[in-house]
Amino acid sequence: MSAAPLFRRIAFIGIGLIGSSLARVVRRDGLAESTVTCARSESTRNAALRLGLVDEATDDPVAAVKGADLVMLCTPVGAYRALVEAIVPHLEPGAIVSDIGSVKQKVVDELAPLLPARVSFVPGHPVAGTEHSGPEAGFAELFVGRWCILTPPPGTSPEAVDRVRALWLKCGMAVDIMDAGHHDRVLAITSHLPHLIAYTIVGTASDLEDDLRQEVIKYSASGFRDFTRIAASDPVMWRDIFLGNREAVLETLQRFTEDLTALQRAIRWGDGDKLIEHFTRTRAIRRSIIDAKQA
Ligand code: NAP
Repeated sequence: MSAAPLFRRIAFIGIGLIGSSLARVVRRDGLAESTVTCARSESTRNAALRLGLVDEATDDPVAAVKGADLVMLCTPVGAYRALVEAIVPHLEPGAIVSDIGSVKQKVVDELAPLLPARVSFVPGHPVAGTEHSGPEAGFAELFVGRWCILTPPPGTSPEAVDRVRALWLKCGMAVDIMDAGHHDRVLAITSHLPHLIAYTIVGTASDLEDDLRQEVIKYSASGFRDFTRIAASDPVMWRDIFLGNREAVLETLQRFTEDLTALQRAIRWGDGDKLIEHFTRTRAIRRSIIDAKQA
């Protein structure tokens, strides 16, 4: 238990993989005097209570935010607007609204105009995850050693930013603050494009004729398996990410397509030097990720 809780009451709006992982840390370290979740499905509410993730569970977002000094949006980003429209009149003066969504500019553009001056808005993205979903999939150690990016709009209260930063630091994360658009461009290449490629490869394999598909599964350890893990991620969440970060994803995809064409040409013309040069450069990137302890 920490000496003093960081928050009086935290409302988790949605409690899947990420929300439940955060709730586990809050519970473990006593970071809030009380906690509540709003979850739409009864099975999720029951799981949250059974697992001891929160003190209370409700299906009513308005009831959930009453008395909360931190409201943490933990649903796919496409669900935010309707939820925030519902809770806005009931937010406590001085409350902080934050989130964990994987895209940030759309979230800022959509929510900032809805939120009144009496609350602070500190959007965030813990860059940690797995391909699993739901409250059972969460675990408190998920965030340890990873980065959390906060994208507070200009003018956000520094105290509010500090309180949200303190929460993620308690989770074992390092915290960076950046502009929402910059976040989206960085994540387009580090996360969104790799997921798009994985969805494409696995889709292509599943379109192959039946006999070949059997062999694809049988010999998947040769590389395909890693793509299938990524491509097993939640479809709704990823739909919302690609539509929410449309421009940065399309820009990155264009660059990727050009680079792929260059490699295609090198293979066609038997240009082994070009391939060696490229693969040597990418191998060095892997080494720098290992050195940064992000492998
Ligand atoms: P998850 O495990 O699928 O959980 C999503 C939660 O949101 C569930 O409690 C679900 O409720 C609820 N929900 C879904 N749609 C809703 C709607 N329309 N209205 C109200 N509640 C709704 O998802 P997650 O992996 O924790 O991801 C949640 C957020 O974290 C997303 O915004 C995602 O971009 C971000 N994120 C994910 C990862 C990752 O690797 N998964 C990493 C970093 C950030 P029910 O259970 O009742 O359906």
